[in-house]
Amino acid sequence: MADSHAYVIALGSNMRVPDVGAPRAVIGAALDALEEQGLAIHAASRVRASAPIGPSLRHYANAAALVETDKRPPAMLAMLQSVEQAFARQRRGQDWRSRTLDLDIVLWSGGVWLSRDLAIPHPWFRAREFVLRPAAEVAPHWRDPATRLTLRQLAARGA
Ligand code: ADP
Ligand code: MG
Repeated sequence: MADSHAYVIALGSNMRVPDVGAPRAVIGAALDALEEQGLAIHAASRVRASAPIGPSLRHYANAAALVETDKRPPAMLAMLQSVEQAFARQRRGQDWRSRTLDLDIVLWSGGVWLSRDLAIPHPWFRAREFVLRPAAEVAPHWRDPATRLTLRQLAARGA
């Protein structure tokens, strides 16, 4: 790729998608969809189940992927949102607490990015074990530009 960038992407789902299946399968289908959008997926973490947060009664499935693309952050966010919407459109039960698919940018190889609708590193990733652990699995030596700690060190420190 001419001008290529690496990203760590967090994937989360807590809803079945018709014709796809349970949240774990949604994560797998989302990875396929990202690949179809032209991302090179260099590593994918295992999918973890985590307990629900807030009023949601459902369990989440979470994972992370290390990807490469020529897209810069604004185009990357737009692409992730289009994939989220492709899954959301298949939604039938209209439970507002449920997230069919959430795709967040955790880190990118360009360091810090701050604009009105996008913050990289993702502001909460260090405090969310369900993001940090999968991220450390796919990019253990990647250094967080804010703390200068590697993802492995951040994960070991405990979220
Ligand atoms: P959340 O991911 O917090 O559950 P959403 O997926 O609905 O919520 O995202 C809300 C907004 O967060 C998006 O419209 C996007 O502009 C913004 N955002 C800011 N930083 C990031 C990031 N690093 N990755 C993804 N979205 C981000
Ligand atoms: Mg999101």
